[in-house]
Amino acid sequence: MSKVVIALLHHPVLDRQGAVITTAITNLDLHDMARSACTFGVGAFYIVHPVAAQRELAERVKAHWVDGSGAKRIPTREPAMSLLRIVPAIEDVYASEGGRANVDVYVTSARGEGRTVMSYPEARVKMRESARTPLVLFGTGWGLAPALIETSDAFLAPIDGASATGYNHLSVRAACAIILDRLLGTRE
Ligand code: SAM
Repeated sequence: MSKVVIALLHHPVLDRQGAVITTAITNLDLHDMARSACTFGVGAFYIVHPVAAQRELAERVKAHWVDGSGAKRIPTREPAMSLLRIVPAIEDVYASEGGRANVDVYVTSARGEGRTVMSYPEARVKMRESARTPLVLFGTGWGLAPALIETSDAFLAPIDGASATGYNHLSVRAACAIILDRLLGTRE
């Protein structure tokens, strides 16, 4: 099984009205998702952003924690932040992973209505058996754009809450940790 890789997309994602937008990078996303990725043995954590200035910001954050004073102050953050790969578009992720034909793309969302969703046990088996690299996509804003979801290979079952009110508004950071545990965690 190839190592799972993950990507956080800032475009194409949706806004509250359902329009396709580009979101700004959130520093907390970089740290928290990198730490989850490192904890679960993920091979790379791609940050996808079309705006060069935003990519430069992410590169500076990475450099601080991998080569700079951050690495000296909190050495345990270095292996996590070293997983960051900052790229302009999802196509760059595919290219880095041997091309789209070499990748199994799994998408995530809180909204699975009308979708054929894949359970986590099923995804674990597919990841183990497939010769292609498993790539799990996470969105920002109000979620991944439909065009991206339509071209994916699997729609991972939404994490369902248990709130009596039906409240289900996880941060992408929390959702990433839960999903990686379900896919790669070693304890039931
Ligand atoms: N509500 C939108 C959605 O889930 O698509 C956006 C929520 S959050 C700001 C953005 C990302 O977190 C989503 O694109 C998805 O990757 C992840 N996410 C949030 N809640 C989730 C859930 N209940 N199940 C699976 N993924 C979730």
